[in-house]
Amino acid sequence: MSSIIALEGVSKSYAGVPAVKSVDLQVTRGERLAIIGPNGAGKSTLFGTIAGEHRPTAGKVWFDGNDVTRARSSKRAMAGMSRTFQVARLMPSMTVRENVFMAALTGQHRGVRFWDMFSSHREVEKRVDVALADSNLEDLAGVSAAALAQGARKTLEMAMAIVQDPKILLLDEPTAGMGFEDARSATAQLKRLLDARPDMTIILTAHDMEVIHSLAERVVLMANGEVVLEGSPAEVASHETTKALYLGHGGAS
Ligand code: ADP
Ligand code: MG
Repeated sequence: MSSIIALEGVSKSYAGVPAVKSVDLQVTRGERLAIIGPNGAGKSTLFGTIAGEHRPTAGKVWFDGNDVTRARSSKRAMAGMSRTFQVARLMPSMTVRENVFMAALTGQHRGVRFWDMFSSHREVEKRVDVALADSNLEDLAGVSAAALAQGARKTLEMAMAIVQDPKILLLDEPTAGMGFEDARSATAQLKRLLDARPDMTIILTAHDMEVIHSLAERVVLMANGEVVLEGSPAEVASHETTKALYLGHGGAS
């Protein structure tokens, strides 16, 4: 199977109420896919079925050729899937550098025997340095995570995901809660990070069109739990269906 992610008829209901209805989706290796749609469309729920925090009510989820429909998110993470908003991984009392280091060690467990971790300590340090530099976090390296502003906190989470060198990176609303300027600089930063890693597959959800235009190659539009349109960012943004949906709901989220 050449797709890194494949969804086959994935449905998810909450207490019998459908949130995602029989979605088929294939994501190619190295692709950057954005999932957009109005509030309540089912984006986060679909995302959760990929990341492993939601079990589909029906259908199958494939990751890198393996059926992971019933696999826990920790198992998917070990197989090379990282996501940004696992806030629990962020240790507030530790410094920025220590947080990135811990994340790098966790990523290091993939396919590596325990004793190998020690021999490659210096290599881990090097990867941490690169992740900090690429994220513009060098100046904050010694600051405790608890002292970070919201934007820097998001950047740290991103650095922690990137340092694990995942096969696939899942970003649920990477600029959520940011003001216009912060969102803009975070997007530019994210673009730099991702452009330096062309093999990494990205799936993100977003409401901000600037995020989609600068980060995505393909866009899937969801409404009422279904995929209603897909195409390039320009195609989807200019489509009547998108305009109608976004106007009808007073903006997307
Ligand atoms: P989006 O991310 O596109 O805004 P969601 O996936 O969060 O959409 O939600 C899709 C639908 O599922 C909505 O109707 C929402 O109210 C419902 N929903 C989402 N999460 C839960 C949950 N944990 N329990 C019950 N209903 C939920
Ligand atoms: Mg959501």
